[in-house]
Amino acid sequence: MKADIRVALVGNPNTGKSTLFNILTGLNQKIGNFPGVTVDKRVGYCTLPDGRTAEIIDLPGTYSLYPKSQDESIVFSVLADKANPHCPDLVIVIIDATNLKRNMLLYTQVADLKIPVMIALNMTDLTEKAGIDININLFSKKLGVPVIPISARKKEGIDKIRESISFANKIALQQPSIDVNFIAPELIAAISDYLHLDNPYYALQLAHQHENIKFISQAESDRIEELEQAYAFHSQKAQASETIARYNFINDLLFDTVKTPLIPQGETISNKIDKVLTHKVFGFVIFFAILLFMFQSIFSWSTYPHDLIADLFVWVQNSLHKILPAGPLTGLLVDGVLGGLSGVMVFIPQIAILFAFISVLEDTGYMSRVTFMMDKLMRKVGLNGKSVVPLIGGFACAVPSIMGARTIENWKDRMITIMVTPLVTCSARLPVYTLLIALVVPNRNVWWILNLQGLALTGMYVFSLVSAIIVAFVFKLILKARERGYFIMEIPIYRLPRWKNVGFSMYERSKTFVVQAGKVIIAVSVILWVLASYGPGDHFKQIDLKYAKPEMSKQYPPDELKRIKNSEKLENSYAGVLGHVIEPVIKPLGFDWKIGIALITSFAAREVFVGTMATIYSVDGDAERIEPVQQKMKAAVDPSTGQPEFSLAVAFSLMMFYAFAMQCASTVAVVYRETKSWRWPAIQFAYMTVLAYAASFIAFHLLK
Ligand code: GDP
Repeated sequence: MKADIRVALVGNPNTGKSTLFNILTGLNQKIGNFPGVTVDKRVGYCTLPDGRTAEIIDLPGTYSLYPKSQDESIVFSVLADKANPHCPDLVIVIIDATNLKRNMLLYTQVADLKIPVMIALNMTDLTEKAGIDININLFSKKLGVPVIPISARKKEGIDKIRESISFANKIALQQPSIDVNFIAPELIAAISDYLHLDNPYYALQLAHQHENIKFISQAESDRIEELEQAYAFHSQKAQASETIARYNFINDLLFDTVKTPLIPQGETISNKIDKVLTHKVFGFVIFFAILLFMFQSIFSWSTYPHDLIADLFVWVQNSLHKILPAGPLTGLLVDGVLGGLSGVMVFIPQIAILFAFISVLEDTGYMSRVTFMMDKLMRKVGLNGKSVVPLIGGFACAVPSIMGARTIENWKDRMITIMVTPLVTCSARLPVYTLLIALVVPNRNVWWILNLQGLALTGMYVFSLVSAIIVAFVFKLILKARERGYFIMEIPIYRLPRWKNVGFSMYERSKTFVVQAGKVIIAVSVILWVLASYGPGDHFKQIDLKYAKPEMSKQYPPDELKRIKNSEKLENSYAGVLGHVIEPVIKPLGFDWKIGIALITSFAAREVFVGTMATIYSVDGDAERIEPVQQKMKAAVDPSTGQPEFSLAVAFSLMMFYAFAMQCASTVAVVYRETKSWRWPAIQFAYMTVLAYAASFIAFHLLK
């Protein structure tokens, strides 16, 4: 559709931008992608009172023109690039009238770019309730731009917006808010001179953002960088002084135009709550108590639905085996596909519970405080206040935790959090550790109360957290930040959670996981199933024949016979062959081909280790019942040396491997889903495998 005027909607997050966009454009909108990035682009059309057509683009919500994320960097790129097909003739800045001070920062930045602008003052229904009195005429006069009070939710004032768009010509009266020349006058002059610019603020923005924007050439960017060096320009400091100057301007403006009731009610209550919840000591204690409660709940509340789902699948699988004719197709469907699907579905309770907690914490306003409290500490290792929840959540399961890292706005912090979360000891490693520790660590007390086995297990947990922090620090040094910026933290007042939001978030996240990650997990499960159920040549047939002989059934009871047969089949399957093939590679770690098979099969999920060991040693066992497996493993003797196969060195080497290796198809799938590229899961898989190998090697040779 051809438009007569292009309009961009700009505003802080949650100011009602999308609501206004939907009212203005109705169904006449389409969603696409900005070129080269995975950020939704929403464009629509609206007919003006004079019959002309306006193109409306809904830009991502941002607090400032200095972007903190990829989404936000789109805003400056669209506004400042005259060649951009969406570069607007008019910007409507949407301001949440109950949050004027914070919202006006973005307005002053946009206005200083000298793009014609007008203000849609939204949420006026709320200001009325709160007794906030805004002198709109004076407000508009001081800024020199139209200010239109609206309530997007109640659809009030929308006609006025349409009218003002049609009257918008070059708005001559628009006042600059601050004179940025006080910040870096020589640099601004030099850049303006070099690129023939007439707007000092535009030049200053280029100084800050030249590395990230695509509409200037590399040569121009390099020249700007040289000029910055020459004039000793410090981007963060400059952003800070600019922000302070802008807030001074805004304070003056609001002082003259807005009357608020002396003590807004919510705020005093909030302040009182804050005295406790953000206290220097109690604040942390309370936070860790909440975390503890949260993850205890994820563990304990999810057990029941988790088992229910798992049992249901086992039941369906068993029933289908009885109904359907035995054969490869049935095996593929029932054991491969349904097995994989079950592996996906059992995560739903954990994901839903974690997101219920996260959205309650966010909705009540508590999360902003936590971010604020933890930020300084976490920043030292390249993480962010909001990384705490995913990291601690990793103790339960990396999958929901990595999805939880979405709350981290900063790209680099989010990536680092995603990269290190799988290192934290998740619950799937627990059966592996318990089995191995019970195998080699004596069950006795030291210093009366400390149990050696418990100590070893605790050691593995602490070790995982320490390694996650070290790796995060390394990533901090390696990863190039694509964003920098003055950090404006929003500290909202406390309020009750909106349960609809909570429910929606639980539903939405579970759905995303099942639909997106499910595909990968099912594919991997099917592949692993094929590897473990088929073998080269006619070995399988021969095994079947061998165990069908009558003397066999005389020698063994039926259950025992089946287990020995399965064990022999696994050894001769493709997985078994692969186990033999990788033996030379894992030999230096103290592992033989049997462990090799277990490493391969537990690629889909770590806890499969116990089951595989049970099959290999032909005992009846699953993740919950480890004693029989343990006895067999303890008795296993290395035929070449006559020594026990599972020595202290081998067991610890194996634990190191499980501590570091990325043996979880669900995590790989969810990292792919969250980063929208195979690059990150590949990097993660590679670095974790290398670490696993190195740590196992060291552990084996130290303890041998
Ligand atoms: P965006 O993030 O800026 O796109 O904001 P949305 O359009 O998603 O709106 C955020 C929230 O504010 C939603 O819950 C809206 O229903 C609510 N909202 C939008 N406009 C108004 C309004 O005029 N008054 C009130 N009370 N709420 C509003």
